Amino acid sequence: MKAVVKKSAGFGNVELMEIPEPVPGPYQVKIEVKAAGICGTDIHILRDEYRSVPPVTLGHEVCGQIAEVGEKVTRVRPGDRVTTETYFSTCGTCRFCRSGNPNLCPERRSIGTHVHGGFAKYLIVPEGNVHKLPDTVDYIGGALCEPLTCCVNGVLENTRILPEDVVLISGPGCIGLLCMQLAKTTGATVIICGISQDTARLKLAKELGADVTVDVQKEKLDEIVLDLTKGYGADVVIECAGAEKSAQQCLNLVRRGGQYTQMGLFSRPVNLDLNTLVMKNVYMTGVFAHVPKAWLRTIALLEQGKVKTRPLVTCQLPLEEWQQAFDKVSAGTECKVVLCP
Ligand SMILES: [Zn+2]
Ligand SMILES: [Zn+2]
Repeated sequence: MKAVVKKSAGFGNVELMEIPEPVPGPYQVKIEVKAAGICGTDIHILRDEYRSVPPVTLGHEVCGQIAEVGEKVTRVRPGDRVTTETYFSTCGTCRFCRSGNPNLCPERRSIGTHVHGGFAKYLIVPEGNVHKLPDTVDYIGGALCEPLTCCVNGVLENTRILPEDVVLISGPGCIGLLCMQLAKTTGATVIICGISQDTARLKLAKELGADVTVDVQKEKLDEIVLDLTKGYGADVVIECAGAEKSAQQCLNLVRRGGQYTQMGLFSRPVNLDLNTLVMKNVYMTGVFAHVPKAWLRTIALLEQGKVKTRPLVTCQLPLEEWQQAFDKVSAGTECKVVLCP
């Protein structure tokens, strides 16, 4: 079968190539991939800015249909529509695994970085990793379950948002738009900002429920935030752009005693005035990937229609056009690009 593989370490070295079709072992299932989202992380892996263990098939945002089940599989059957968690294996014994935080396990092996992922016709995952897709979610929208779960972990698990809060989200990409919708579920007032290149995404943000959208190159974000908060600043800021300017702006606009949550991944070390953190007694949190509990919340939120993922997918391409798809993600012109093997 064809797969998009990171062949060796270093910049680039990604190719569409023929690899053997996998066979599920006991307690494993074989998923026929219907849609797999391209993540910023995949671009970082391509550019050698994020660790992977080549040769490995990329893709960790997977949605599809069970094609075959291994021995001893009881929970799912061929034909089931599913999405999958991304940790193929964890040690199960370290303090993180045992306290419900397998995302922090040093032995964690994830699909798309350590073991073969979803940019292929089929992939193998443990039975316990799959979640049945709600009937109301199609395969394309289902490819966003994994990024949504990262956002649930960031916004609902690692940040405390109250209904009366004003939340500022910087960066209206896929992650920003998911975080915005999650912040809205708490009842808070949500401002989302971007640059002029983001005009279409800001419009989408408005359609998906953002209270205020701001183009920082045309409007005065600080005045808008201060206006909405009686001059105090935002109770919560969530940085989703992974950009230095955006991060500094978030630090400047969070109120004293407020919370700063970092969702975006920077491609290089950045310069930030962390005295702001001290002077304003800000609570700063980084959020890495997801925990099992966040998956259950994601599926429930999708089932209840409280978060919409389908409108975020602006481009679908076949596996053969992966290069073009990656280029589109790098260019930042699309919201979410999905490969359909
Ligand atoms: Zn991802
Ligand atoms: Zn562990």
